[in-house]
Amino acid sequence: MTSPAPSPDLLARFATIVGDRYAVTDAAEQEPYLIEQRGLWHGTTPLILRPGSVDEVAAILKLADDTRTAIVPQGGNTGLVGGQTPHHGEIVLSLTRLARIREVDATSNTMTCEAGVVLANAQAAAQQADRLFPLSLGAEGSATIGGVLATNAGGTGALAYGVARDLVLGLEVVLADGRVMNVLNKLKKDNTGYDLRHLFIGAEGTLGVITAAVVKLYPRPRSVETAFVAVPSPQAALDLLALAQQMTGGGATTFELMARISVEFAFRHAGCRDPLADQHAWYVLLEVSSTQTDGLRRRLDETLEAGLEAGLIIDAVVADSLDQRAALWRIRETIADVQRYEGGSIKHDVSVPLASVPDFIAEASAAATALIPGCRPCPFGHLGDGNIHFNVSQPVGADKDGFLARWHDMNDVVHAVVRRHGGSISAEHGIGVLKRDELARTKDPVALAVMRTLKTTLDPNNILNPGKVVSL
Ligand SMILES: Cc1cc2nc3c(=O)[nH]c(=O)nc-3n(C[C@H](O)[C@H](O)[C@H](O)COP(=O)(O)OP(=O)(O)OC[C@H]3O[C@@H](n4cnc5c(N)ncnc54)[C@H](O)[C@@H]3O)c2cc1C
Repeated sequence: MTSPAPSPDLLARFATIVGDRYAVTDAAEQEPYLIEQRGLWHGTTPLILRPGSVDEVAAILKLADDTRTAIVPQGGNTGLVGGQTPHHGEIVLSLTRLARIREVDATSNTMTCEAGVVLANAQAAAQQADRLFPLSLGAEGSATIGGVLATNAGGTGALAYGVARDLVLGLEVVLADGRVMNVLNKLKKDNTGYDLRHLFIGAEGTLGVITAAVVKLYPRPRSVETAFVAVPSPQAALDLLALAQQMTGGGATTFELMARISVEFAFRHAGCRDPLADQHAWYVLLEVSSTQTDGLRRRLDETLEAGLEAGLIIDAVVADSLDQRAALWRIRETIADVQRYEGGSIKHDVSVPLASVPDFIAEASAAATALIPGCRPCPFGHLGDGNIHFNVSQPVGADKDGFLARWHDMNDVVHAVVRRHGGSISAEHGIGVLKRDELARTKDPVALAVMRTLKTTLDPNNILNPGKVVSL
């Protein structure tokens, strides 16, 4: 058992490891580490530790393990499932001071980043070396490399480059007992036994603390073209994706589906402008990229013309400047945030096989409105990955708290549709505390038993993010 309330003496021993300056006890200074951006949780802690080296992380975990003290690892605090929040007064281990990019190796196409490197800074460092680090998401100005790996983040580049897991070659991890595991290699081919890095990617800080990673770099695109496309249906959008991949040689790097209601919220609350003259039921943000400097716009135009002829497109606009491109992206990027101005919003981050997306959206919308008449499903997301953020806004004028009280009922009916289509109840945000109990109810029992075995083997004293992902 972990001890719930460390004594003042023990807290002082932890503080000594990092020095008083980086042992945060002041309530006002602690606040940014304890809040959750949507206001779903508010943590409490006696101490936030901000180590400045791997050795300090190792010393903290060794002391925590010896004294059975619970630790919550934290990066940029942008997670959406409550994994980085100290819900029961645990000590927070913030990795943000481990923010050094140790190496950019343009020949090997790798970059070695410490866990606290902010994602946008990693992207910028790759760009400086004329390379691309393709992981990209709305929280990239705050999310850290350690956090995006611990949650196996997806984002808008996953269509072309894969999710975080696909972008990692090597890892440095501090284990629960304080030992440092170094598999920080740059190798594409390494078949020397079990591939341990994948145990820690997506484990949400429950199996070890990631302190550094070797990530893959790619050639930097020389041309990028962005279109905002009105389509008659999700099925037409799927067909358009296939057409675009065919006609651009697999050049589609973004393919985001948006229902009218979700973009309407962006027009209403974020000052975004409707780029098309008429209103349509569905939209796609389509981006194509190429390492060549010319020919891409022509290929995109040909794709859009073919889509129009095939009845897959109703109308479209292509960005002619960086400002126009930014304006189109802004519509997509503000969708999740502006839902709060429409009252309560019940979230689902799900994935289904690509071919099932249209049926999933139709069936989940019907199930949601049958449960709460008048509620407003706002599906949007990474259609190219089969990943839909099926968020449901409250009926106009309804009581917000009453609506949000039905969160689990709504999850149940939507996730039932997900399961019917062989999908996942967490496509990219993870499990944390938000979906832990549902995971326990719905995951294959043998798979769940293996997860528990891994947890008790790697963290026998249950000090690392206890109560997150799997309960023991
Ligand atoms: C506006 C917005 C847009 C988003 N868009 C996307 C999206 O498109 N795709 C997507 O996948 N996610 C998205 N997210 C979710 C979030 O950004 C990701 O989960 C991100 O990967 C979290 O990184 P972080 O550094 O903030 O981690 P935190 O929130 O601090 O932590 C997340 C989890 O990782 C653990 N952790 C953090 N650092 C470490 C470490 N070094 N070692 C071990 N465990 C660690 C924590 O304990 C916690 O369980 C979005 C969030 C916001 C707010």
